[in-house]
Amino acid sequence: MLKGKTALITGSTSGIGLGISKALARQGANIVLNGFGDVEGPRAEVLAAMQGNGAVVGYHGADMSRAADIADMFAYSTAKFGKVDILVNNAGIQHVARVEDFPVERWDAIIAINLSSAFHTTRLALPAMQAAQWGRIINLASVHGLVGSAQKSAYVAAKHGIVGLTKVTALENATTGITCNAICPGWVLTPLVQKQVDAKAAEHGISNEDAKKLLLGEKEPSMQFTTPEELGDLAVFFCSPGANNVRGVAWNMDGGWAAQ
Ligand code: NAD
Repeated sequence: MLKGKTALITGSTSGIGLGISKALARQGANIVLNGFGDVEGPRAEVLAAMQGNGAVVGYHGADMSRAADIADMFAYSTAKFGKVDILVNNAGIQHVARVEDFPVERWDAIIAINLSSAFHTTRLALPAMQAAQWGRIINLASVHGLVGSAQKSAYVAAKHGIVGLTKVTALENATTGITCNAICPGWVLTPLVQKQVDAKAAEHGISNEDAKKLLLGEKEPSMQFTTPEELGDLAVFFCSPGANNVRGVAWNMDGGWAAQ
């Protein structure tokens, strides 16, 4: 379905970004990976998902807190693939503390990586999408783009912000073939959430499995983690012709969290 298209997924060396990269790769898209840590493992996983369909994997190590790095990543993607057709703004970090204790440097980093980076990638991606009259922008918000939780001020502010950016980007391009939508997962068991499971286990002196149940029980009625594969399937739907007129939505995949 996506043969000949190129998808740039920020923060795709791990977790949800890697899951979405594999799902888009399976549909034939070229993939530009981004993120820190091991690159060869994720690259091999994406190549395996392509199953020899002829698509190509690239990588750029831009730090998403730096506008100049993001511009370099677009220059690289354009030189290698011609243009970016599908942009998935996924890179994100978390820090947990009450507002009065929140380290200023962590606030600035979360706003830069979880929110401002999506403004930079979107402004750089739109001109080529507008020239082609086709594009897909998918923003990884969170259920925290819709509701709050204590101790997550920067994260909740950034995620509400990205839902707002999603709506405005969708509206400004509403008469074109470019759509912009947000995905709002509840708990997904990635390294980002495992840290919170570990903190709960230590705080209550309980096992890893019991800490997971406690975490889910507090917020997620389904008592199930959403998976990167399920999120990949939703991203593929947003890229399909069936989603041509889905514009500016914030789509929960949260086991009923926000329905309460
Ligand atoms: P993760 O920690 O597994 O992956 C984060 C990715 O972002 C990694 O590839 C990491 O290298 C990259 N990254 C971090 N800082 C970066 C930077 N400065 N520049 C470039 N890359 C950077 O996290 P995840 O759980 O897969 O989260 C992905 C997105 O989904 C985030 O935006 C997160 O807020 C959102 N989300 C996660 C959950 C969850 O439960 N895990 C729920 C809702 C939303």
